[in-house]
Amino acid sequence: FRFEKPKNEPVLSYAPNSPERLELVAELERMSSQQIDIPLIIGGKEIRTGNLGKVVMPHDHGHVLATYHMAGEKEVRMAIEAAVEARKKWENIPWVERASIAIRVAELIAKKYRAVMNAATMLGQSKNAFQAEIDSACETIDFLRFNAYYMSQIYADQPMSPTTDVVNRMEYRPLEGFVFAVTPFNFTAIASNLCMSPVIMGNAVVWKPATTAILSNYYLMQIYKEAGLPDGIINFIPGKGSVIGKEIFAHREFAGVHFTGSTWTFNSFWSEIARNLPNYRSYPKIVGETGGKDFVMVHPSADVQQVAVALVRGAFEFQGQKCSAASRAYIPKSMWYAVKDSMGKMLTDIKVGDVRNFSNFVNAVIDEAAFDSITGYIEKARNTKDAEIVFGGTYDKSKGYFIQPTVILANDPHFVTMEEEIFGPVLTIHVYEDAKFEETLELVDSTSPYALTGSIFSNDRYATEVAFEKLKYAAGNFYINDKPTGAVVGQQPFGGARASGTNDKAGSYLNLIRWTNPRSIKE
Ligand code: GLU
Repeated sequence: FRFEKPKNEPVLSYAPNSPERLELVAELERMSSQQIDIPLIIGGKEIRTGNLGKVVMPHDHGHVLATYHMAGEKEVRMAIEAAVEARKKWENIPWVERASIAIRVAELIAKKYRAVMNAATMLGQSKNAFQAEIDSACETIDFLRFNAYYMSQIYADQPMSPTTDVVNRMEYRPLEGFVFAVTPFNFTAIASNLCMSPVIMGNAVVWKPATTAILSNYYLMQIYKEAGLPDGIINFIPGKGSVIGKEIFAHREFAGVHFTGSTWTFNSFWSEIARNLPNYRSYPKIVGETGGKDFVMVHPSADVQQVAVALVRGAFEFQGQKCSAASRAYIPKSMWYAVKDSMGKMLTDIKVGDVRNFSNFVNAVIDEAAFDSITGYIEKARNTKDAEIVFGGTYDKSKGYFIQPTVILANDPHFVTMEEEIFGPVLTIHVYEDAKFEETLELVDSTSPYALTGSIFSNDRYATEVAFEKLKYAAGNFYINDKPTGAVVGQQPFGGARASGTNDKAGSYLNLIRWTNPRSIKE
């Protein structure tokens, strides 16, 4: 028995006066005019520690949307106990019922809480309406529906029974213990998926959300409950990474971590896990997606307009805060002036500002630390002979953390902004001699330690094939004539290797399989 393959959730347009627009505007107003208090949720119970943090709007940082309570060591231990306890019943619930809860969450978001999820993501994470729609509505829903389908495929996959008197079967048990989900601010869908993919496979989760995404993530918790997810299966504990991680990684019942975030943090998990290894019952599953320094490689046969659009969208949508964002581009000399001209025209039309004005394409970066780090890179480009700022380069944090979309031209292909992940609206371009296409491919492959996404633009099939081969390991998601962002669940399973993570493809059975502990049975 398998589920039918679902369809992707349609993206709504939010055109002026459309019903979805009116509903969203009303929700934005409602959420902006209140200040909620967000508790921890452990074993289904709300817990208030009084150790408070604030959720502000990145585009209007004087405006507090919510306060939230932070977990201390005691609450982390409580969350672990709640997960371990709740798992006992959960693992024995028929998988079809677990799937139906996930599907119910998807239905609730699609039909009842779409505006709530989008408004919370817009206000708390500074995403414009379109970016919120493709994330907190469509991708979140897609992950839930497709994972239910992939799960049904996994359970249906059974070994052969070689003779008539032997029966073989495979039991896909969950992991023994609990799973730790550590989720990022940049996608509400990822926050949902990192918890729900282990959960659907029968595991229970202790969830540390990014403190800059707590508003949307808290609403998700409420939707899970309404959909019938039993108490204790996901335990929501915002707080400091160091406090939470210490308790989690030292615990005997720690069975795995599902992570999206920085390479540095992920590396620290591996060290902690290695140090604590003798304490664990099993080898933990370590699944993570980290950074990227995603490339756009352009062949002289490419279409100028197509390249310019891909660069502007790939680099500046959601302020470049996607692991997949186009952040280094290689353009042949013969095309550079045309591409520059075309990008320049688009960039003059782009408006930067508050998410509540729907004509703003670029909004604020997530917080002050991000603002300072990104603008530090811009200043490096301003103060060197190795690079020049072609567009943008200005910024202002007086009201919100706003940075103009910035394009840097690097004479040196190893200039720091060509190599390091910036996670902001900064694109660096290196112009190469047309005749050096193949050498430049080698440069693309060797310049960064990451291998998440990348694009080749070419209308010459031979050149495309050469790039495809030479860049074989340079990206886990490889795009031919498209921007390197915007992978769709069920269409382009997402993830990369090298310093970009364990490449356990979010949105595919490859990810779900990591959360199982199969038993082969011969009878
Ligand atoms: N899946 C997203 C995309 O394809 C990126 C996810 C991330 O930033 O981690 O654009």
